[in-house]
Amino acid sequence: MALEEERKPLEQQGTYPLLPLRGLLVYPSMVLHFDVGRPKSVKALEQAMVDDHLIVLASQEDGQVDEPQKDDLYQVGTLARVKQMMKLPNGTIRVLVEGLSRAQIIDFVEDEELFRVNVTLHEDEGDLSPTAEMQAAMRSVAQQFEQYVKLSRKLDQETYAAVVDIDHPGRFADMVASHLPLKIREKQDILEAFDVQHRLERLLQILSDEREVLELERQIHQRVRKQMEKTQKEYYLREQMKAIQRELGDKEGRTSEIEELRAKLDEKQLPPEVHEKVEKEISRLERIPSASAEGTVVRTYIDWLLALPWTERADSVVDLARAERVLNEEHYGLEKIKDRILEFIAVQKLVNKQSGPIICLAGPPGVGKTSLARSIATSLKRPFVRVSLGGVRDDAEIRGHRRTYIGAMPGRILQGMKQAGVKNPVFLLDEIDKMASDFRGDPAAAMLEVLDPEQNNTFSDHYVEIPFDLSDVMFITTANNLYQIPGPLRDRMEVIQLAGYTEDEKLHIAKLHLLPKQREAHALKGDKLRVSDDILLELIRHYTREAGVRQLNRLIATICRKCARIIAAGEQKRITVTIAMVHDFLGPRKFEYGRAQEQDEVGVVAGLAWTEMGGDLLTVEVSVVPGNGKVKLTGQLGDVMKESAQTALSYIRSRATQLHIPANFHEKVDIHVHVPEGAIPKDGPSAGITMATAIASALTNRPVRHDVAMTGEVTLRGRVLPIGGLKEKSLAAHRAGIRTIIIPQGNEKDLSDIPEVVREQVQFKPVSHMDAVLDIALGNEATLDERHPLHTEAWFADLFTEDKYSGEGTHQ
Ligand code: ADP
Repeated sequence: MALEEERKPLEQQGTYPLLPLRGLLVYPSMVLHFDVGRPKSVKALEQAMVDDHLIVLASQEDGQVDEPQKDDLYQVGTLARVKQMMKLPNGTIRVLVEGLSRAQIIDFVEDEELFRVNVTLHEDEGDLSPTAEMQAAMRSVAQQFEQYVKLSRKLDQETYAAVVDIDHPGRFADMVASHLPLKIREKQDILEAFDVQHRLERLLQILSDEREVLELERQIHQRVRKQMEKTQKEYYLREQMKAIQRELGDKEGRTSEIEELRAKLDEKQLPPEVHEKVEKEISRLERIPSASAEGTVVRTYIDWLLALPWTERADSVVDLARAERVLNEEHYGLEKIKDRILEFIAVQKLVNKQSGPIICLAGPPGVGKTSLARSIATSLKRPFVRVSLGGVRDDAEIRGHRRTYIGAMPGRILQGMKQAGVKNPVFLLDEIDKMASDFRGDPAAAMLEVLDPEQNNTFSDHYVEIPFDLSDVMFITTANNLYQIPGPLRDRMEVIQLAGYTEDEKLHIAKLHLLPKQREAHALKGDKLRVSDDILLELIRHYTREAGVRQLNRLIATICRKCARIIAAGEQKRITVTIAMVHDFLGPRKFEYGRAQEQDEVGVVAGLAWTEMGGDLLTVEVSVVPGNGKVKLTGQLGDVMKESAQTALSYIRSRATQLHIPANFHEKVDIHVHVPEGAIPKDGPSAGITMATAIASALTNRPVRHDVAMTGEVTLRGRVLPIGGLKEKSLAAHRAGIRTIIIPQGNEKDLSDIPEVVREQVQFKPVSHMDAVLDIALGNEATLDERHPLHTEAWFADLFTEDKYSGEGTHQ
């Protein structure tokens, strides 16, 4: 329902209906609408409509109070004109009011139905001519308000413009106040400020407070935002940096790596197919992320291809005089061996390629195989590499694993070639006899390919894949035991045997080579250390038992070390080593010189054995006890040795009559054959005559000469067959103080190999029949021994009536 407007000047005082406002305040000149629902308020409105549409609007101090009394209301309100009224469907009335003037409540007239108040109106003065002070205050308020509007996002620029346009100071102040989010109490403050100047100042204060709050709010907000932004930004940046780094790092690391590889490739002279392969692999590498496992595999492969000596050669000169000089300088003795090596080198020179057989230096440890090979390299001015084949069971160790295997590598041959750095080194394949074949493959077959001059110019390694030319390599092999080298391989080799050294040779080697080298290694040059021959002999005789000089070399090193320490500690300036010092440094003597038996004994015979360590004395013991023909063999004998024991026994049985033993002796006694040092496995046929002699001695009770040693295979008929390793065996016998050695006639030809000293001091007796062995070895007298199971008076008497067996001639 629209209300028509009628304007009458307001009375200074008057009584009007009162409308209490909750949470709301209406300033003069403000137009606003609100809903009214409380019955008293509705009544007041109705009353106002009856009168002149005027009503006093006063705010409640507490908006919660439903039935406000006089004291619940502020005493200053606003006289307003009701401009519109509309009944809403829910029964409340929406009114539109216009504030007219401040109204101070003087009197409160309570009615049953409605409030009426008697008020004094306070209209603003100075409307059209504000004082300068007022203007200044207005400007300040405007400014502050402007700031406020800017800071607060609740008010827009238009509102601001509308507000500052008002030039009536009081109304302006009211307008500003109405737009501020003030509490009722504060709004009331402004309403009660009847003096406009005062009102403006109060407003100024409120505004500045408000602005400060806003400013603070903004700062807090900003800080929070900044903080958030910062963390977010950092996260974002970090992520981006990571991506960039990954991108950059990848590219950069990889690029420089690739460039480096390309540069290396250009630098190297590679056969075309290798060059091409490397090129291809580098391009492949370029496309693989650097951290990936595949990248590493490809990189390793490229490195291998680049590192192998495809074309590099050492400028080798075959100068025979020089070779001879080097060999002689570095090795004492070994004349025949040096000759063989020089011949070999000479052939090399003539054919200008390694086409013939490969040298195999065979012999016990420490006889100088490795050092000879090294000297060959020095004399030919070629690099030297050594690869040990001991324990190699898998041909992949020779030929490499295919690249598809994890951790695949080239085989030992190409590893050695890489180490050599040239395609024509001297390549020592150490311990070729210690290669074993098993289910994993046959390394010997792979070695055959390596050593075969027909094939080795295109040696294929599973890893490298491209054939590698080994035909310029000078291969030398070493072995302890020739017979363990697989046949086809052995056929390719030219074997040079090194047997071992005599005491005299060892002494010279120690004096001329080992000691000077150790002196130098321990900084004991000049006369700081004196070691006499006696000392060296003491070491050779009582601290070593070997064919070579390895142990001896180690002992000399120990002595040098101990002396170096004494000198370094300042205890002595120079040392002359004495026997007592040797005992002090190395402990008591380990071996007695000469291990031959002290006296003749029944059933104990010194045999000679060949081992990988050189020759050795091998005692055979036999005893007979009453029994029923059992034969017991102890001492870790191999099959061949057991068989030769049986053969020996059979032979003795066939000779029972000649030996004056009861023909049925085997039914009355048990025979026990023992070879001491049971921990060491022993095998081979060459102990045949030794066992036969021991059995014969035990059965006849005739003692065996303790200074005789023997070696030889025996047949059932008593023939003595030749054996191998005579040189090593005789050296061992000589070392042990043996003065007579019985050897098979068939070995007589080998005597020329035996060193002069040994031949001078030892008598070799070649025999072709077992009878001759017994003749030499057994003492003639049998003594009657009641404890002997076969000895009877009759037998003993018989012994002297019969003709004795006939022996063969002896070799002096
Ligand atoms: P192998 O390879 O046969 O086991 P080495 O070559 O390792 O033996 O020799 C062991 C040591 O003995 C080396 O220091 C070596 O120089 C030295 N040696 C061996 N024989 C002689 C010799 N005839 N003259 C000089 N030194 C030797």
